[in-house]
Amino acid sequence: MATKILVAQTRLFKNVFVCKNCNAKMRADPKKIADGTIRCRKCKKRAFKTIRKK
Ligand SMILES: [Zn+2]
Repeated sequence: MATKILVAQTRLFKNVFVCKNCNAKMRADPKKIADGTIRCRKCKKRAFKTIRKK
């Protein structure tokens, strides 16, 4: 069961990015983030960082 939770967590956090400006969470394709296609729906900026759990 523990592995199942781990897989779910990585899946949940893998494609989630946080806006550096307003901290809004966005789930998107990492390729699109790199390309600059994805914009924050709140502030329309393209500064994103990945979510990393310690
Ligand atoms: Zn934003």
